[in-house]
Amino acid sequence: MDTTLQQTDSLLNAIAPAPGEPRREILDPATGELVGFAPVHGLAELEAAVAAAKAAQPAWAAAGHEARSAALNAAAEAVEANAEELARILSREQGKPLNGPNARFEVGACAAWLRAAAATPLEPETLVDDGQTRAVLHYRPIGLVGAIGPWNWPMMITVWQIAPALRMGNAVVVKPSEYTPLSVLALVRVINGALPEGLVSVVSGDREVGAAITTHPAIGKVMFTGSTATGKAIIRSSADTVKRLTLELGGNDAGIVLPDADPAAIAEGLFWGAFINTGQTCAALKRLYVHADIYEDVCRALTDYAAQVPMGVGLEEQNVLGPLQNKAQYEIVAGLVEAAKASGARVLLGGNPDETQPGFFYPTTLVADIDNENPLVAQEQFGPALPIIKYSTVDEAVQMANALEVGLGASVWSADPEKAREVAARIEAGTVWINAHGAVDPRIPFGGAKQSGYGLEFGAEGLKHLGQPQIING
Ligand code: NAD
Repeated sequence: MDTTLQQTDSLLNAIAPAPGEPRREILDPATGELVGFAPVHGLAELEAAVAAAKAAQPAWAAAGHEARSAALNAAAEAVEANAEELARILSREQGKPLNGPNARFEVGACAAWLRAAAATPLEPETLVDDGQTRAVLHYRPIGLVGAIGPWNWPMMITVWQIAPALRMGNAVVVKPSEYTPLSVLALVRVINGALPEGLVSVVSGDREVGAAITTHPAIGKVMFTGSTATGKAIIRSSADTVKRLTLELGGNDAGIVLPDADPAAIAEGLFWGAFINTGQTCAALKRLYVHADIYEDVCRALTDYAAQVPMGVGLEEQNVLGPLQNKAQYEIVAGLVEAAKASGARVLLGGNPDETQPGFFYPTTLVADIDNENPLVAQEQFGPALPIIKYSTVDEAVQMANALEVGLGASVWSADPEKAREVAARIEAGTVWINAHGAVDPRIPFGGAKQSGYGLEFGAEGLKHLGQPQIING
């Protein structure tokens, strides 16, 4: 396949449904305009994808790490060669702006994570070799992997799932979110230019297709990123085939600002920790706990910073915040802010959507003087509305941070990193960042605590989760 498609929308044409095939309109969440049509696949297409994967996988497994890594590097080059067109499709379908940590950034991350999966070493591990016993741990291909993804970072999360799966010698069947199928179809179309035919297929169906992947006897592992409720359904439905699972589920990340922090210095980091992708990020800062001594100063610094960050249509270059991706998410955010207002909380910024405008735009919103039990604090808002809670002692802040059943990420903000690390050690979360939030890195494993899921992604640990451990004893 030619990996440099020149014409505008040529990728959209390339992934368009065939005439007469069932199709779904995909509308731009910023404007309501038609972006394109996605095919509506069902169980027949899933079976075809499984058959193609089964046919392609043995040769891919036999090719070995070096050849597979070379193909992943070629796939990264193909992504870069098509970067602008991919970013424009992503921006129009998902809503995220081209600029800021958004569409162009996400496409760049796809290339980076493909290269990282190619470059990460994973050697057999000699466990015992004492002259009498010799035991070596290897990671063999699992076979077929199902990759089920969400709508917030649709391209990047697809790469997080498929790159390590491919590196470890597996074939992959991808089920994108029904809200963002075009992004994933376009990305996989580009990546497939560098891969053997049939190895990666996209089945662009609804949740029934996702459910069928989780019960399919030919699929050995499911990589799932999405809500905690769906993750629990997948645990149940995958039980009969004893599938391996990696579950990256919902979060409601706490950030704790210690009294020695400098409000002006941390405002920008706090803002982007919370509002990256307009708050629609799994490991975004979703509850901010600030010590009473600096509470008003942090509120002011954050409000000043947030007030000047432009929100609007993604294709307009100046914007760095966008709409909510879909109406259901818009209503969740609007409902939570309304409930906070009704409880007497103080709105520092936003909270007043302009319902006459097209698109699912909810303004950047900061809410102070809010109780820890308020639904805007206790539930995952997954949008641009941050509650700021006052605390008096570090014990109280840690207790509030740990009070929920989820624990994906968290952060501690302080002028003294050592003191911050001591607090971090007490927080129940898969990752705790110091003076930052949500900074994922392909070299560093990432995964949730408690009901935010299990299994790790990225780095050598991530590769191991896409392999079947085998001990050769003797
Ligand atoms: P969702 O759970 O509604 O959907 C995710 C995917 O699962 C979709 O492709 C959907 O079609 C599919 N699905 C739905 N029901 C299914 C079933 N019974 N069996 C199999 N598949 C099924 O999630 P969403 O609304 O798309 O994503 C938002 C959520 O994802 C948020 O809670 C967010 O925190 C979480 N998330 C987590 C991470 C992470 O790394 N932990 C990353 C991004 C998003």
